[in-house]
Amino acid sequence: MSIRFDDRVAIVTGAGVGLGRCHALALAERGAKVVVNDLGVATDGSLTGSDAAQNVVAEIEAAGGAAMAHGADVSDAAQAQDMVAKTMDRWGRIDILVNNAGILRDKTFAKMSLDDFRKVVDVHLMGTANCCHAVWPHMREAKYGRIVLTSSGSGLYGNFGQSNYGAAKAAMMGLMNVLHIEGARDDIRVNTLAPTAATRMTEDLMPEEALALLKPETITPGVLYLVSENGPSRTILSAGAGCFAQTRVYETEGVRIDGEVTPEAVAAQWDQITDPDGQEELQDAFGQTRKYARKAATAEGIK
Ligand code: NAD
Repeated sequence: MSIRFDDRVAIVTGAGVGLGRCHALALAERGAKVVVNDLGVATDGSLTGSDAAQNVVAEIEAAGGAAMAHGADVSDAAQAQDMVAKTMDRWGRIDILVNNAGILRDKTFAKMSLDDFRKVVDVHLMGTANCCHAVWPHMREAKYGRIVLTSSGSGLYGNFGQSNYGAAKAAMMGLMNVLHIEGARDDIRVNTLAPTAATRMTEDLMPEEALALLKPETITPGVLYLVSENGPSRTILSAGAGCFAQTRVYETEGVRIDGEVTPEAVAAQWDQITDPDGQEELQDAFGQTRKYARKAATAEGIK
């Protein structure tokens, strides 16, 4: 069955170049009306005055699609609100939001200024929160919404020199989990993409042969599935070079320490605490509380 987005309206942030451009073009090609957002900045977030968003709109229109550009700085809540208001004015609905805009300010933590830390958190975390917050009431009212947040291997696994970026990208997981829980009753599905692609962000980091394999076009189909009508929710989709995998968070079965709970007792049972045998994926924070209360009650012989 082919996946189409006719009559759907999508906002893609940071869609002037790179992955965002590719997502926007693909959504439009399959029928969506697309808001191509881009502030026009260099990788470090400094303004370039680029009209890349207009160029993407022109490309979409030339292919017979519908698009509009919006230059909101996603880290500014009022600008994100304005983008959403203009989208509602023009097309009357917002079905899809792909949060993709991003920058880098890499330095070792020892050398990083807190301004650089905050700037990256502002663009990635607050930028995503601002856009989600602006579309949320419209999606709730429509009882339909598909949202993608963009994380990174840095956020999931860490990367030298990216404490700001890694922290902001890991935050996507937390935001996704809660928006998934809160959005479920209104059919708002929220997923996270962890891409690895050849773009200006990564062009200096990898050899030519690797870059040739890691084209953004090899990732975008995964995003289109995530935002489709029958797409999943609360999935971290890791993707690159045509490879797709799900990243999941598990908790080990763990132990209840008998007797006095001391640091020595924790040390003595470390192997069991960290034993992956029987690990499970918890569905919410209370799932964790319930698990410990149940384990403790069983150990104490309480029903
Ligand atoms: P890119 O630099 O090619 O494109 C990012 C776009 O975001 C640019 O057009 C830029 O102008 C725009 N932008 C930046 N700040 C903005 C703001 N405040 N408001 C609006 N637009 C803004 O980057 P890319 O490689 O295509 O990355 C896209 C997303 O994927 C980013 O969130 C990035 O962190 C993430 N990511 C990329 C890779 C990769 O391998 N390329 C890996 C992991 C995660």
